[in-house]
Amino acid sequence: MNGKGPRIGVLVCSCWSRSDAGIDAEAIVAEVLGWDHVVHAEATDDMCGMGNATLAGDLVRRHSLDRLVLAACACCPEDQRCAACNDERAALREAVKAATELPWAHHAFVNLRDHHRLTDDGITAVAMATARMALTPDQVPPRGAREPVREALVVGAGALGRAAAVELGERGIPTHLVDKVAPAGTGSEAPKNITLHVPARVMRMDGGGGDFRITLAGLGEEVELRVGVVLIAPGLAEEDASTGVGWGLPHSSLPEPPKKVQGTFLASEDGRASAGAAAAYLGRVARGTQAVATVDDEACIGCLKCVRVCPYSAILRRPDPEFHVTIDPLLCAGCGGCASACLNWAAEQTGYTTRELEAAIVAGVGRTGALLIVCNWSAYRAMDQAAREGMLPRGLAILRVPCMARVSPHLIQLALATGADPLIMAGCSERGCHFRGRRNMLREHLGHMDDGLARSGDLKRVFVVSLGPSDKDVLATRVEEAMEERRYAREERGPLATPAREAAWTRGWPG
Ligand code: SF4
Ligand code: SF4
Repeated sequence: MNGKGPRIGVLVCSCWSRSDAGIDAEAIVAEVLGWDHVVHAEATDDMCGMGNATLAGDLVRRHSLDRLVLAACACCPEDQRCAACNDERAALREAVKAATELPWAHHAFVNLRDHHRLTDDGITAVAMATARMALTPDQVPPRGAREPVREALVVGAGALGRAAAVELGERGIPTHLVDKVAPAGTGSEAPKNITLHVPARVMRMDGGGGDFRITLAGLGEEVELRVGVVLIAPGLAEEDASTGVGWGLPHSSLPEPPKKVQGTFLASEDGRASAGAAAAYLGRVARGTQAVATVDDEACIGCLKCVRVCPYSAILRRPDPEFHVTIDPLLCAGCGGCASACLNWAAEQTGYTTRELEAAIVAGVGRTGALLIVCNWSAYRAMDQAAREGMLPRGLAILRVPCMARVSPHLIQLALATGADPLIMAGCSERGCHFRGRRNMLREHLGHMDDGLARSGDLKRVFVVSLGPSDKDVLATRVEEAMEERRYAREERGPLATPAREAAWTRGWPG
């Protein structure tokens, strides 16, 4: 073992897509084996094959690992809708957890497809994941007494709704299927794990992701339900005025448009994929792997900045004098805004703690100089497409965050002090923001930092771009331009002043 502390294992996928892309998995393994805390590394064929869960379990036991970095494709962020990806990743994680008998199997997915033909950049991605993982807390933070309700409600019993309900039922999740009329094909006998409520309407929907309280009204008495997730299936046909069924939200069985809260899903194209995403969401909440925020009572001074920035009212003032705020994990959507607003490092976010992100930035920038921070949504999709088509330049460290809201002034200054040149930050457009416009926090942070950055000349290293999910060309062009502009500036004016790496790498670094 190299060094003390965490014992990290690294598995690098070497399936055909790796070798076809010119990525040398064995070269990555050879490099990784010399790093601190990396106890074991090996290349494995077809990472998504379930045999790798057994392999991972064997490795964990044989080498007494307590963290695993799984370097493989991740074609879309975990929270998005691709059922296949969610299934494989969630299943592999669960299998690894079972095989290792660890209370918590640490993991990170590195999208090697973002480093097409670039083994070096693959090594950078693994370096960032490994540095981050070394600082991952040993245990998931406690989630309080509330556990998600493992039942689902599907609103709309048309083709989409039925497909979603069947998928959920087959996954063992008791599902309530509701519609105000009974479309053809629903039949009288409901499939396994499905309870039909037809005709019925949703009269009230309270609570939040993991624990919704639903009131249905039908022909008889009102029915009260508790479910963990809600899928809205609006239907495939034009709305029929006589029945009120068809396209257009809200679904005619809902009293008002559903609020965009965690735990609600729109089955707009593929009912089964939406059901997969909903099931994965329930699983993540149950495992505590949802990227929720937490508050360290010792560090909190009660300034309430976090309360003001939270777009989901998930942070509550506590009535007792000793503790200032508490976060409802079932309301928290995981934007990271509170973690970037808190100047005391009291508010943090599972999987995206300040220390983990600091470590990834230092590891990535130290290898490449250029850093691209992307949000987990539109910008990630645009980046993924651009990378797979070989449109991104070499030598780019890529860091994913849940939202631009998570990019705090401290992280920006750390990246610049570590030598990031350029520092490119790409998030969703305002309309596309998944967190009620919280991506604007980055603009606010930069607004406060503008003068200081302009005085030091560092502002010229900072580039911000807003993207839609299909904006791969925009992103590739902006990255190319930024890297070219900074290359020219360095040639003209000489290299940057020596980056204050050591000074920056402390918790007390001025932010
Ligand atoms: S911003 Fe930080 S210090 Fe202020 S109340 Fe929230 S958690 Fe506590
Ligand atoms: S991460 Fe976002 S949604 Fe969750 S508590 Fe913090 S500000 Fe609210």
